[in-house]
Amino acid sequence: SNAKSQYSGVAIYSPEIDPHSPKRFSLMSDLRRAIREDELMMHFQPKVELHTGRLHGFEALLRWNHPTLGFVPPGDFIPMAEATDIIHPLTEWVLEASIRQCRQWHQQRFYVSVAVNLSTRNLMDERLPKKLADLLTKNDLPASALELEITESAIMEDPERALLLLQQISDLGIKLSIDDFGTGYSSLAYLKRLPVQALKIDYSFVRLLLEDKQDEVIVRSTVNLGHNLGLHVVAEGVEDQPTLDCLIDMGCNQAQGYFLGRPMPPSAVPEWYASAPWEADVEEGDLPPDF
Ligand code: C2E
Ligand code: MG
Ligand code: MG
Ligand code: MG
Repeated sequence: SNAKSQYSGVAIYSPEIDPHSPKRFSLMSDLRRAIREDELMMHFQPKVELHTGRLHGFEALLRWNHPTLGFVPPGDFIPMAEATDIIHPLTEWVLEASIRQCRQWHQQRFYVSVAVNLSTRNLMDERLPKKLADLLTKNDLPASALELEITESAIMEDPERALLLLQQISDLGIKLSIDDFGTGYSSLAYLKRLPVQALKIDYSFVRLLLEDKQDEVIVRSTVNLGHNLGLHVVAEGVEDQPTLDCLIDMGCNQAQGYFLGRPMPPSAVPEWYASAPWEADVEEGDLPPDF
């Protein structure tokens, strides 16, 4: 998949991301239309605090329901959007939709955070901090309710520039985490300078945690590395109870995965929340969420 070829850091020919492919042109013009015409929606996947069993918040994941192609997964169009300027209006759409949803939850006294994924090109956009500040003000959401997930490779594309931008974003009170940690070219020299709160261990390591001794060593070392740097560690792709137990044992702070909750439309969240044993993290006042 596109994601896999990115992960390995090796450029593999793929018609989906070849900038000269006609298929790409039509999908990208479709995407411009999708942004205008409501074919996009956000799904939300719960992030759970492992030491308290509480719901921390949700990661916002983009979904595209294409009129003829049907559901197009983000891995099939985000890398293409990244190769063009479409990534900018797309990210703005995602931010606005996610912030608006989070605000709505807060109005229902459901005090959760929302984590939005950023792309490499977003980190090159000097206007991003101002856009974020404006969106938060306009939607009356505290900055502490917003998190942004950035991959190592996005940061390493131009680390000095990324560092400056991330510092400005962090100064607004927005939390930052490093996504897909362990799959890119990490530079510990930059890692220690980054104003981030969390590391997210990639699914590719968590998936076989119980079967593969090397994956176990990688996950355990990453948890320790993160803690020693004063960061929270989040595991993604937790699909069963034994894996969850192992992560709790290792001292991992948060987890995300199908076992805890699938990405879902906001309309499905109340039912998921009612059936799950989690409580939301109450950040504003001390009212319990009556959701
Ligand atoms: P990611 O940020 O690492 O998101 C985690 C991916 O793992 C999501 O795939 C999620 O649905 C999937 N996942 C979660 N739990 C499990 C599990 O237990 N098992 C398995 N097998 N998979 C699980 P999704 O939604 O297809 O997103 C793929 C990638 O697309 C994301 O990876 C992220 O890099 C990117 N993406 C998604 N939405 C956006 C967006 O709004 N903007 C940007 N720039 N990128 C996005
Ligand atoms: Mg993510
Ligand atoms: Mg991730
Ligand atoms: Mg990942």
